[in-house]
Amino acid sequence: MPARTPPAAPRRRPAPARTPAPPRHLAVVGAGIAGVACARTLLQAGHRVTVFEEEPAVGGRMATRETPFGSFDLGAQYFTVRDARFARALETVPGLCRPWSVNSVRVLDAAGRVVAASPAPGEAHWVARPGMASLAETWAQPLAAAQCLHTRTRVAGLERDRLDPGRWELHTLADDGAQQVFAGFDAVLLALPAEPARRLLASSASGAPLAPDLAQPLAQVEMAPCWTLLLAFPQAVRPGLTTLGPQWNAARSTHHRIAWLARESSKPARSQIERWTVQASPQWSAEHLQDDPARVRAKLRKAFSEVTGIRAEPALAEAVRWHHARTLQPLGRSHLWDAHARIGACGDWCVGHRVEDAFVSGLELALAVA
Ligand SMILES: Cc1cc2nc3c(=O)[nH]c(=O)nc-3n(C[C@H](O)[C@H](O)[C@H](O)COP(=O)(O)OP(=O)(O)OC[C@H]3O[C@@H](n4cnc5c(N)ncnc54)[C@H](O)[C@@H]3O)c2cc1C
Repeated sequence: MPARTPPAAPRRRPAPARTPAPPRHLAVVGAGIAGVACARTLLQAGHRVTVFEEEPAVGGRMATRETPFGSFDLGAQYFTVRDARFARALETVPGLCRPWSVNSVRVLDAAGRVVAASPAPGEAHWVARPGMASLAETWAQPLAAAQCLHTRTRVAGLERDRLDPGRWELHTLADDGAQQVFAGFDAVLLALPAEPARRLLASSASGAPLAPDLAQPLAQVEMAPCWTLLLAFPQAVRPGLTTLGPQWNAARSTHHRIAWLARESSKPARSQIERWTVQASPQWSAEHLQDDPARVRAKLRKAFSEVTGIRAEPALAEAVRWHHARTLQPLGRSHLWDAHARIGACGDWCVGHRVEDAFVSGLELALAVA
C-alpha cells in the first residue's frame, strides 16, 4: 500500500500587516490640556500637526498668573489621578507635580463654621510647580520645538479649502489684528469648551453646516461660568504661623456667593506671601456674568471676609471671569469624531469637569484619528 501522505496542513493566511495610516496634516484648535494631549499624541504618531491657541501661553483653564506677590492658579487648583494613562503621562515629567497637603478639604457655612466633617484624606491633591500651567507648558515643549504651535492666534472661521475642497482651511486673527488663512488640513480637531466649538462650526461663511453630526451633541453640553477673585496680603508672612485668618488652606463653602477658597501660598514651591484664590459659586457667577469686574470684586471680597474673618486690606484684589469653567452636563463619551467631515472635538466636558477628563478626552480623540 502506497504510503499515504498526510493531508497538507491548512495554510494559515498571514495576518494582514497593520499599516499605519499615512501621515496627515491635522489642525488642533486650543492648547489647553486636552489640545496639548491630543496634538502631542498625533505628533508622536508621525503626523504633521499645527496647533492654534488664542492666548499668549498654553494651558487654558490650567492658567497661572504671575504677580509681584507671587503666582495664582486662576483656574484648576489641583488635580487627582485615577486613569492609568494619565498616571503614565505624569511619569514622563518626574518631579514636576507634587502633592498639596491641604489637610483635607472642609465644608464651611456662610459664617465660616465647619458644617461637614472633613473627609478623610484619600486621593492626593496634585499641583504642578511652579504653577498649574507648568504641566501643559512642559508637555507642549515638543510642539514648540517642532515649530507647530501658534499662540496669540485665534481661529475665527473654518472653511473648505478653496484650492482642495477635500481639505480644510482655517481663518485666524492674531493679537495685533492680522488675519491669515492656513490651508491644507486633512482634519480639524477642536479642543475648546463645547459652546465655542459649536459656535465655530456654525460660523461657516457658506452657511452650510460643517459637521452636522456634531452640532446636536455639542448643544446638549452645559457649562457654568466662574468669577474668580485673587487676593494678596503681603503684610502677613509665613502662613500658618502669622495668619490673618483661618488655619486651613482650602475649603468648599455654602455661602451663596462663594464655592471654594484656597491659600495659594500653602501650595508647594510657591511664594510665602499670603495669597488667596476665591471661586464664586456657579449660580452666582451666572447671575453676575455681565457685571462690572469692580462690582464683582467688592461683593466677593465682602463674602471672603464673612467666611474667613480676614478684614485686612489686600495689596492686590483682582476679579477674573471664566465664561466656560465647569461642566454641569457632560457629553457622556470621550470625544466627538465625524469621520465623514473629518472634524473632531475634545475637552473635559466630554466626560466630566476635571483636568484628567480633559487629558483623557484629548488622548482618545488623537487615537481615534491616528
Ligand atoms: C475656576 C476653575 C477652577 C477649576 N478647578 C479645578 C480643579 O481644582 N481640579 C480639576 O481637575 N479641574 C478644575 N477645573 C477644570 C479644569 O481646569 C479643566 O477641566 C481643564 O483645564 C480643561 O482643559 P481643556 O483643554 O478641555 O479646555 P481649556 O483649558 O478651556 O482649553 C481650551 C483652549 O482653547 C483656547 N481657545 C478658545 N477659543 C479659541 C479659538 N477660537 N482659537 C484658538 N484658541 C482658542 C483657550 O484659550 C484655551 O487655551 C477648574 C476650572 C476653572 C475654570
